[in-house]
Amino acid sequence: MAKIAVVPGDGIGTEVIEQGVRVLKEIAPDLEFEWFDLGADRYLRDGVTLPDDVFERWKAEFDCIYLGALGDPRVPSNVHAKDILLGSRFRLDLFINLRPIKLLDARRCPLKGKSCDDVDIVVFRENTEDLYTGMGGTFKQGTPDEVAQEVCIATRKGVERIVRAAFEYTASRGLSKVCMSDKSNAMRNTGGLWQRVFREVASEYPAIEASHLYVDVLAMELVRCPERFEVVVTSNLFGDIVTDLGAILQGGIGLAGSGNIHPGRLSLFEPVHGSAPDIAGQGIANPLAAILTAGMMLNHLGRPEDEKRIQAAVQACLLNDEVTRELGGTLSTVEVTDAFLSRLA
Ligand code: ATP
Repeated sequence: MAKIAVVPGDGIGTEVIEQGVRVLKEIAPDLEFEWFDLGADRYLRDGVTLPDDVFERWKAEFDCIYLGALGDPRVPSNVHAKDILLGSRFRLDLFINLRPIKLLDARRCPLKGKSCDDVDIVVFRENTEDLYTGMGGTFKQGTPDEVAQEVCIATRKGVERIVRAAFEYTASRGLSKVCMSDKSNAMRNTGGLWQRVFREVASEYPAIEASHLYVDVLAMELVRCPERFEVVVTSNLFGDIVTDLGAILQGGIGLAGSGNIHPGRLSLFEPVHGSAPDIAGQGIANPLAAILTAGMMLNHLGRPEDEKRIQAAVQACLLNDEVTRELGGTLSTVEVTDAFLSRLA
């Protein structure tokens, strides 16, 4: 029986994760859940972000972490989010950030004339390197001569494992195309490594079409012709940006799920959206991203049929306008989940 550590987090994170767990209990009654009180409230109460004993228990006892968003205006440093989310990514070595861009209701795509088949892409975003390690520093801070430096790192091991994961996924799903995206025309060192590794790994998969686009061109092409793409592999920063663009192509940030994965090990699943302080506490957050994320987690746990069932029921809700306000509907967070559960049944 799989064990899930639930970290609802902050703002609308707590609202949508509660609904996601409702859904998981319905679909997979054998799962075991334990809730962890971690987030801004806990940090403000007793200064705790991610205690070592909790982290050790996660590693020893759990299969997945199901996380809501972290971020709260009362914690401007965002230190709790850095420790909990970025800390987990680095300490658990969750090197794959898996972000599907899948349109389930063509009316919700901002592009003219695109069908659901046209927008069906999976992005493999590298999740442990690049510009997000915190390496760097400032010098002469607060003076006119101030210098700030953020160090971009790429390691052969890091690049190779994400590129290989993208090809393995493509092969195992019977897909045929992988596009690698970088900025190697301007970033010659890290980009050069990505180029060499991509060519090497691609040569091991001769049946898969391996292509390359600079990330600025990828951004244009995702809008012009999303049907060109099946699997995209890219670095941490570029993946962060293009998947937000992708979230809009699939109908909005309230529909985008993600997995932070180390195959065979404890992995973490979270909706892409943030804690949205502007709408927190009003009961109007869209729970569908959290629900689709729950589906990704079930797939990761070896239950792909459950993810398909979830996608089908989400699609039915979208097609029948059983949605929250930001998608033009009138339902509350709980009412959307109610509608989802009836569609599931
Ligand atoms: P972060 O800075 O961590 O990304 P954020 O919540 O400010 O957090 P986004 O997640 O990009 O930023 O969300 C931007 C806005 O989109 C929110 O302020 C909110 O109005 C809206 N939004 C995001 N997620 C949802 C959701 N699940 N349901 C409804 N509206 C949402």
